[in-house]
Amino acid sequence: MVRASLNRFEIIIAGGGPAGSLLAYYAAQRGYEVLLVDRARFPRTKPCGGGITVKAAGLIPFAWQDIVEDVTLVSTLVNQRVCRLQWPQPVCYMITRDKFDHLMLDNARRAGAIIKEGCGVMEVRRDSAGVTVRLENGTLYEGEILVGADGAHSRVAPLLNKGKRQGFAAVAEVAAPADRLEAVRNSLIVDFKVIPYGYGWVFPKRDHLNVGVCTMNPTVKPLGSYLQSLLRKQNLAPGWVRRKYGFPLPHHAGVNRVFGEGRIILLGDAAGLNDPFTGEGIYTALYSATLTAEVLQDRYRRWNDITAAYQKRIMELVVPEWKKAYLVARLFYATPLGASFLEKRPYLAQELWDVLYSGRYCDIKKVLGRNWWRLFYRGS
Ligand SMILES: Cc1cc2nc3c(=O)[nH]c(=O)nc-3n(C[C@H](O)[C@H](O)[C@H](O)COP(=O)(O)OP(=O)(O)OC[C@H]3O[C@@H](n4cnc5c(N)ncnc54)[C@H](O)[C@@H]3O)c2cc1C
Repeated sequence: MVRASLNRFEIIIAGGGPAGSLLAYYAAQRGYEVLLVDRARFPRTKPCGGGITVKAAGLIPFAWQDIVEDVTLVSTLVNQRVCRLQWPQPVCYMITRDKFDHLMLDNARRAGAIIKEGCGVMEVRRDSAGVTVRLENGTLYEGEILVGADGAHSRVAPLLNKGKRQGFAAVAEVAAPADRLEAVRNSLIVDFKVIPYGYGWVFPKRDHLNVGVCTMNPTVKPLGSYLQSLLRKQNLAPGWVRRKYGFPLPHHAGVNRVFGEGRIILLGDAAGLNDPFTGEGIYTALYSATLTAEVLQDRYRRWNDITAAYQKRIMELVVPEWKKAYLVARLFYATPLGASFLEKRPYLAQELWDVLYSGRYCDIKKVLGRNWWRLFYRGS
């Protein structure tokens, strides 16, 4: 590929999901010349539960509450028994990804980023002088750095890492009758009995239920039949299902990988930054974009130093967290210390779920320290 002299930007971002859009917003605000390209035209569908935890919500720097379809005050955990956890203020916000991602992209555009929709990145070349990107329509762009925020099937990620570790999720949009929607307002259901090494969920939206299953173990198949069982268990009629879709949950940040090197940075799903216990990915998509924006603050740094600084931050702030999350996943999904243990100790479950919604995995040690005696006794 011959480097073109036209179409030069400082930062080229592949992918306009939450990770790419948030970085484009911050970088454009800081005066960088930013190009964001996405294969899709927005608003577009992204297979997702559309649950934004309070820790993720805290990373969104502009108004977005208008598109919230429901807020979660109650989480119902289902296993042998049903365990109801309750909070006085929202712990999770329900959105649909078509509206949320469109709003994120619009904010990036308003901040000054150039957005090209409907044409994906096809090919990437990098050398010591920068990167050259060829889009699917043949257009060439040059940049100082390329940010891979192009999701689970990233074209950029293989430049830095080989192989993947990923779970899978399948989701159905269920147009349930109004009384069924009302029955789950301000609450969500998490069912650990429905699929091995993962869970099923029911998330209420304004005019439908988002019902899905996920597993962190890729050998658990076929997801469609687990989804069917959950729909049956919830008494949701097949005729109410508007559409179904599946997608990977890349989670390889527990092992040391490359996240930023030379002229390339990887964010969110492209970096494999999904939570290995819950599969939550919007939080780390936003967090990885925020960390990149922080290292971009120093305008006089060399580009190679920027990507190296980002690598260091992810290794210090995210990888240790996800190593703990892998341990929690193993204990929870593969030993008796899982849902059956917690449902007999609802107070402990409440504190642990607090951590999942708003804290960090390193806080779990403090929770266990405070509640060590509850590990041996049942009840609240
Ligand atoms: C079924 C399911 C349910 C989930 N539920 C939740 C949940 O409730 N809460 C939560 O926090 N997380 C959830 N996740 C995870 C979450 O969806 C992802 O982690 C999150 O979307 C990652 O954001 P991202 O910006 O990194 O990538 P994405 O949101 O995937 O965005 C990537 C973008 O890149 C574009 N693209 C792809 N290829 C190219 C290319 N070659 N060139 C240019 N652009 C390209 C795509 O069109 C897309 O717009 C769920 C995942 C699944 C599969």
